[in-house]
Amino acid sequence: MKKTISSLSIIIPVYNEEDNLLLLHENLMAVLISLNYEYEIIYVDDGSNDNSFSILGQIAQQNVKAKVIKFTRNHGQTSAIAAGINYSVGDAVIFMDADLQNDPTDIPMLLAKLNEGYDVVSGWRKDRQDTWLTRILPSKMANWLISNITKVHLHDYGCTLKVYRNKVLKGYKLYGEMHRFLPAYAVNVGASIVEVPVKHHPRKFGKSKYGLGRTVKVLLDLFTVKFLNSYSQNPIYVFGSVGIILMLGGILLILALLVEKILYGHSLTGNPLLLMSVMLTILGVQSIFLGLIGELLVRTYHESQDKLTYHINQLLNINED
Ligand code: UDP
Ligand code: MG
Repeated sequence: MKKTISSLSIIIPVYNEEDNLLLLHENLMAVLISLNYEYEIIYVDDGSNDNSFSILGQIAQQNVKAKVIKFTRNHGQTSAIAAGINYSVGDAVIFMDADLQNDPTDIPMLLAKLNEGYDVVSGWRKDRQDTWLTRILPSKMANWLISNITKVHLHDYGCTLKVYRNKVLKGYKLYGEMHRFLPAYAVNVGASIVEVPVKHHPRKFGKSKYGLGRTVKVLLDLFTVKFLNSYSQNPIYVFGSVGIILMLGGILLILALLVEKILYGHSLTGNPLLLMSVMLTILGVQSIFLGLIGELLVRTYHESQDKLTYHINQLLNINED
């Protein structure tokens, strides 16, 4: 197989994974050594308060290609991934979870796909080992929605195990739970993508950091992604369209009530349900749009001043330049 890449950056977010790290590193090293690529492993300690950082310190001491970014506090998986991307130098960037749910032995197969010429190879946990009701079902619904709204059709946006050519990742700012929209972003900037089934194991050590709450965040992020993809240059199209529809609805309703009043003498007042439904509609729409304005402001705030969404406490085996 012709190689189209020569070096790898493996990026692994770590939040309280003390019992997984040594085995993870060992499994990963076995694969990397067999692969014969230049590599670096970037562990991002996302403010762990267990022994994770001292274990990462031992790993970094034994292998200069194991690099560690330690955050001052927990900033979330997306920020950890963003920091990893910023410090990565490999031609291909591989994302993995630290909890041994992803399997490093899938990496050679993913790279073979990348070498076929794809820009993104996306892992799909076809046989996912998590609880059905709280994890698999919400994820299925979220994936269906994301697929339909972004028009980038994947089964599993949430699977961390994915490989990207470095060039398609640079220059994208990540917020909230947005790392799962990276495939959609990459395709929007012209990348080719393929999805392949990967192994998935139940979590043996430590606890999952997420529950149902994340689904809500992902849904809200989806609004933002759709909005920014379609309307960030001309928000008036979306604000204006909805405004016109609401205004027309309001005018028609008032006309109908007036007609009723004039022809049949029905009272305009004394219909509280009408008032309530009008208020709820307006308030709901307004709060969604306020959220969207907030998203725009956050971007202005960070990007106009080149502010990062995370703060680093310490770097191991990495020179700041
Ligand atoms: N993680 C992180 N910061 C967080 C939450 C999670 O860096 O605030 C890491 C975590 O250590 C793991 C990966 O993100 O390596 C995925 O987390 P988890 O296994 O809890 O998610 P799940 O597999 O249950 O979706
Ligand atoms: Mg996990």
